[in-house]
Amino acid sequence: MDDWKQAWKLKSVQVGAASAFFYALILLSEQFLSVWNVIPQELKNKIPESIGEWVGMFVGVAMVLARLKKQPELHGDIKPFVTITAGHSNVDPGAVNGKYNEAELVRQFRNAVAHYLAVAGLEFKTDGTGTINLPLTNAIALAKGASLAVEFHMNAAASKSANGVETIALPKDKVLAQKLSVAVANVFGSRLRGDNGWIDQSQSARGRLGFINAGGLIVELGFISNEAELAEFNLKYWSAAKAVAQVIIEHEKDA
Ligand SMILES: [Zn+2]
Repeated sequence: MDDWKQAWKLKSVQVGAASAFFYALILLSEQFLSVWNVIPQELKNKIPESIGEWVGMFVGVAMVLARLKKQPELHGDIKPFVTITAGHSNVDPGAVNGKYNEAELVRQFRNAVAHYLAVAGLEFKTDGTGTINLPLTNAIALAKGASLAVEFHMNAAASKSANGVETIALPKDKVLAQKLSVAVANVFGSRLRGDNGWIDQSQSARGRLGFINAGGLIVELGFISNEAELAEFNLKYWSAAKAVAQVIIEHEKDA
């Protein structure tokens, strides 16, 4: 019995010492990182190569340790983020009019909105950057956990005269949906469809949409099949994207 107690004492001392040492190392590495980060690159370049390799290795270890310590805090408060996605994908073009296809146009629009959100310093996720437009399953996954998820599409109809802007959303997002539609319609000079730009998803011709059921809003930016709306889109989509980003930024500020 005495031996067992002795062994236990020893063990707890060892663990205590080890974790104290580990903690000290983490604190030291954090201090080192904060100092290292303010050293100008010019100065870093002057460090002899042999020392530079050692410093590089230490920075690597320090970053791993700093991350280990931060991990539990991360789980506590996940930073809120907005998700913006482009409808369809690189393999599904969506609606087509001549040389233009929906997936390509809304991908450009997503990039433009992303640009303005980044400028505003908002946290956001997208279904790709540049020419990448990942499929709907990806957009739905990204919408989960987001404080706001918006996807862009363009409408199409057999009648070339069909026109207007609409945002499909759940009733709880009616006001926000209307704001998004108004932002787009004002720039393109389009009319609002549905209830001042809002379409209740239960009344949408598309029926139940996975993205909206995941809490997202779908903005139909206009009719690709309408020559005037298509021309207006190509001319002014950057301005419309800026207006949409503004609505998103305002919404996140109030949230
Ligand atoms: Zn579409």
